[in-house]
Amino acid sequence: MSKIKSEVIDTALLENIKNIYRKISYAAIRSGRNPFDVKLVAVTKTVGIDKIKEAIDLGLRVFGENRVQEAQKKIADCRLQITDCKVEWHLVGHLQRNKAKTAVQLFDLIHSLGSIGLAEELNKHAERDSKIQRVLVQVKVSEEETKHGVARENLIDLIKAVSVMKNLKLEGLMTMPTFFDNPEMARPFFKELREIRDKAEESVSKAFGNKLPELSMGMTNDFEVAIEEGATMVRIGTGIFGERR
Ligand SMILES: *Cc1c(COP(=O)(O)O)cnc(C)c1O
Repeated sequence: MSKIKSEVIDTALLENIKNIYRKISYAAIRSGRNPFDVKLVAVTKTVGIDKIKEAIDLGLRVFGENRVQEAQKKIADCRLQITDCKVEWHLVGHLQRNKAKTAVQLFDLIHSLGSIGLAEELNKHAERDSKIQRVLVQVKVSEEETKHGVARENLIDLIKAVSVMKNLKLEGLMTMPTFFDNPEMARPFFKELREIRDKAEESVSKAFGNKLPELSMGMTNDFEVAIEEGATMVRIGTGIFGERR
């Protein structure tokens, strides 16, 4: 166990983390799930390295970034400064094909795979790095133009293509519905992602024996609803680190 290294504990950060874990537990338990089946991904976009180190001191181990460029320096700094504990980095934001190489070097899990082209690119770089790149397929559940991800009707083809790429390991699905003030409005989209997952597992498992255990869904505003609908990873930024600049 690594000891607390910061001189002063950020009590606001500690309170936020406790609060989020409590809510995760309650949401899991009231829906008949095991709280340990829900992984907290602390989203650190715009958050500096010092704050991230404090979060590590307070026990967080999985961090999410939404831009490759922003993540690059942070992850390098973090790896230099923290050598005694295993921290996981996830890419939760959109990934452009020309950043695939860097993404493979940086991230343990990429949540935003949305096309066969990108999958081929990731697979190529993973092979060169002798790495098995873990990925989630991002599914577009709301019709909003700006949301990335694969359309429902193309999902099975994408899953089949990824399944035969030797250096990619597909672990599940991710979605990011439109923002609603009332989190209940997001529930149908979370429910839909779970149903899409169940159907996809059924239709591809005959051919490939695939399981898609992970469902990355839910952010600060709606993660409790997402957990009630089956989320295994929640991506939380503001709820942990406060409002972004
Ligand atoms: C920023 C971001 C989050 C976290 O959002 P909060 O509302 O601050 O919790 C989650 N997922 C993605 C893809 C993001 O870009």
